[in-house]
Amino acid sequence: MAQIIDGKAVAQRVRDDLKKEVEIFKKQNGFAPGLATVLVGENPASKVYVKNKNKACEGAGMVSEQIVLSDATSEKELLDLVQRLNENPKIHGILVQLPLPKQIRSDKILNAISPAKDVDGFHPVNVGNLVAGNPCLKSCTPFGIMKLLESINYDIAGKNAVIVGRSNIVGKPAALMLLAAHATVTICHSKTQNLPDVVRGADLVVAAIGKPQFVKGSWIKEGAVVIDVGINRLPDGKLVGDVEFDEASKRASAITPVPGGVGPMTIAMLLWNTLEAARAGLAAKNA
Ligand code: NDP
Repeated sequence: MAQIIDGKAVAQRVRDDLKKEVEIFKKQNGFAPGLATVLVGENPASKVYVKNKNKACEGAGMVSEQIVLSDATSEKELLDLVQRLNENPKIHGILVQLPLPKQIRSDKILNAISPAKDVDGFHPVNVGNLVAGNPCLKSCTPFGIMKLLESINYDIAGKNAVIVGRSNIVGKPAALMLLAAHATVTICHSKTQNLPDVVRGADLVVAAIGKPQFVKGSWIKEGAVVIDVGINRLPDGKLVGDVEFDEASKRASAITPVPGGVGPMTIAMLLWNTLEAARAGLAAKNA
């Protein structure tokens, strides 16, 4: 049976370490790193995400500023707010919760966030630096996946990593991070042919599809490591991932559960990015 990669425990360790680092930062600089979260509209899932992010931020000893705007907010109003946050020296990280109401173009807003405060790692400058292998703020979910692999001392170099899903927030940045760690990377998507066979060749499988139990246990190579990013709610209310967990865990050497795998890492890495952004901001000021 596979080792279960306990994302909750790893995320807690990251947050404990972070709390200590934030304490040191505060002693050295006389202020705490600050994260601004912006929620536009009434999407219930977004409300929960933002609340959890702010709570976690305060738990780590950082300042969190929560800005809630109405559904009717215009693109110009949101752009003006982002500009004010870019210029606010107490704010080191800016997170605009997606999805945004339809009158607002998400890419316009995400591109307006200063790359130095882009703690989601979505800005083209950060993405470009990730491609080039330069230091940057990294997309939180794939960054969390790398931490999970580190937690089981997984030696990525030379491994065949197959990522199913090519989204800008998970699949693509995960591929780049694994490539930087010297994996041989294959990115699959809805047009990939013979997907089961491609997955069968993988030493490491990252599933980020958004379809419940789509990756079958029989596709998993004996001894492979499986990272399941998917979060899907079944009609009976149960949460499941993109991988058929019970069958896959009979073949894998290690696997993340859903819930309790990748999910808790995303917020932990967001906090980490906020501290990094605060440090980098100071470094730039003192340069
Ligand atoms: P997207 O919908 O943006 O991307 C899904 C990807 O899966 C696309 O690239 C799509 O291919 C691919 N895909 C869809 N159907 C198939 C198929 N039949 N065969 C192969 N590939 C397929 O999703 P996200 O990346 O945003 O999220 C993926 C999952 O991860 C979701 O369940 C989401 O809830 C979860 N998630 C979890 C997070 C966490 O913190 N744990 C954070 C972010 C996401 P194509 O490009 O061709 O359409």
